[in-house]
Amino acid sequence: MPGAKKKLVLTYVDSLRTDMLRRAIEEGRAPTFATLLERGVLIPDCVSSFPSVTPVACSEMVTGVGSDRHWISGMNWYHRLERRYVEYGSSLDATRAFGVFRALYDLVYNMNLAHLSPEVETVFEQLEDAGQRTACTPFLIYRGRTRHEVSLDGLMRRAVDATRLKFQHHTWGPTELFYGDLYASREVPCKSTSIPGVRDEYAACCGAELIKEDLFDFFLLSLPDTDNYSHKHGPEASVEAIAKADGCFAEFAAAAGGLDAFLEQHALILVADHGQTPVHRGLPLAELLAGSWTVLQPSDDRPGLAQLAVSPTGRAAHVYLLPGEGERAEPTAVGERLAEIEGVDLVCRLEDSEGRPLQRLEPGMPRGGGEWAVVERGGERFRFRPGEGVADLRGGSWEIDGEPTALEAEIEDGQLRSEAYPDPLARVFSALTAPHSGDFIVSLEPGFEAVDWGGVTHAGGGSHGALHAGDSLGPLLFVGCGPDSAGEREQWTLKDVAPVIRTHFGLDVG
Ligand SMILES: [Zn+2]
Repeated sequence: MPGAKKKLVLTYVDSLRTDMLRRAIEEGRAPTFATLLERGVLIPDCVSSFPSVTPVACSEMVTGVGSDRHWISGMNWYHRLERRYVEYGSSLDATRAFGVFRALYDLVYNMNLAHLSPEVETVFEQLEDAGQRTACTPFLIYRGRTRHEVSLDGLMRRAVDATRLKFQHHTWGPTELFYGDLYASREVPCKSTSIPGVRDEYAACCGAELIKEDLFDFFLLSLPDTDNYSHKHGPEASVEAIAKADGCFAEFAAAAGGLDAFLEQHALILVADHGQTPVHRGLPLAELLAGSWTVLQPSDDRPGLAQLAVSPTGRAAHVYLLPGEGERAEPTAVGERLAEIEGVDLVCRLEDSEGRPLQRLEPGMPRGGGEWAVVERGGERFRFRPGEGVADLRGGSWEIDGEPTALEAEIEDGQLRSEAYPDPLARVFSALTAPHSGDFIVSLEPGFEAVDWGGVTHAGGGSHGALHAGDSLGPLLFVGCGPDSAGEREQWTLKDVAPVIRTHFGLDVG
């Protein structure tokens, strides 16, 4: 009986940390979020994806599966079939390094229509199929059943016009889709912008219009600005940005007649895609590896000669072994080199069932071949794969080889738990067995961030991407939907968001 349900709003605040949310509330800077916390069930330590960056995390949030199934592996990754890097916009300079048109095309069309697996469905698709009206403001993963014309206005249009190339395709999104300068499914009196730092207002303004006209059953309200603010000033300074997000949410709810009236008509999920930790040093991984091997460059004249591809993605990075035309990089030597680089914390890779390093020179993914995931840290080595042995906190079952010291994990009553690296086995295994994963994934030590292909880091500010708890944990709040208590599960992750949405609308999760 979907009609009997309240409408549902999923609000995501990019890079919101639970401790900073609490500080903002204590300081009286976030009165709206304070009321929501009083009325709802808060999970303070919901686990993000790995790498803990927005494209991967958002895909997980709206599909309910990991990157092994949704196929989005990072902010930057190497496309084995097309033999090129994919860049979603790590920074403006990184975008320029790959060409503005190419990067925008990957971000706007390819991410949803080509890279996101056709074998999984987003909640927008599932709800529209069930006759629900869906809507979203700028959000990386928006694939739905409604065809939208692309309209280019403002800054983006100028950027694209400068390349003398045109975007001439349509896209498929929710019933109502607002994407700043790129799309608007209807005219709204909201100033669209692509400039980071003033996007919360745009989203809240679009949301207010949707509420006034009663245009959705499910709405994803994006509040992305806290991310940019924390990157720049460090996560410890993010109260300022959280206060602004709170104000924008209040403005949105005011369109329903205020927060009380809003909550009478709507259930709410408030979630962060990942956390953020202070960084003080950039790690130029491609440069360091180029001392020993030929590394594929963004606009490489002779890509066939490259031995490695390197994809920095915040505080993590993928490293790919390339088939090349000349001498190939030796996998063991690459792994050893990665492990000795200062700032590299974990080196993760796959081994075949015989214990040989797995080389994935062709596209496609290992499936059911009994591969082991190997994690190395400071000389410690630990292997695991799905099977019988230990349980994780979410009921997954794993065969293990060695002591899990590399993951600072302990095993008690047959259950593996790590405070330093939340939900480590499922996250690492999913990341490594994703079709676009590197042959190696490195997770960096606290304080370090991988330098992107534009030469940019947030050193002096904050970042995220690692398997580490600081990057990975954030709040997940349910008001009028979801569990009766946080204790219903021992560990919550972003994968739990989509099932709660489906259940709310009476869809069979299957
Ligand atoms: Zn970020």
